[in-house]
Amino acid sequence: MFYEYTLSAKREDFYNITPQIREAIAKSGIINGIAVIYCPHTTAGITINENAAPDVVHDLLIGLNKAFPDRAEFRHGEGNSTAHLKASLMGSSATIIIENGKPVLGTWQGLYLCEFDPPRNRTFYVKVISE
Ligand code: ZN
Repeated sequence: MFYEYTLSAKREDFYNITPQIREAIAKSGIINGIAVIYCPHTTAGITINENAAPDVVHDLLIGLNKAFPDRAEFRHGEGNSTAHLKASLMGSSATIIIENGKPVLGTWQGLYLCEFDPPRNRTFYVKVISE
């Protein structure tokens, strides 16, 4: 089963997409299998990280911006090489296990679409596959 979602990313941030993933799994009716969450963008990514304390994603952004500052030697004419770097680090997808109709996530884990080049309308896909 294949599902498409969009979101409006107004600022650089980690957007919690766990509710949409749970919804896609529920709609699919698949009890045991896997779900692939994929983002078809070059300046946004998908990651799994803490979903309990909002300070964690706040601190992740600070860390990423310290690790990937803009540099005069960058050549990319669009001027958003730092966004490309951060998106590559996060990756474009995540794969999660589905057991008993639910995603197998740790207590503190959530799925995020990571926006690094706002404002943009972003799309992500969820493919749910039965075992
Ligand atoms: Zn670019």
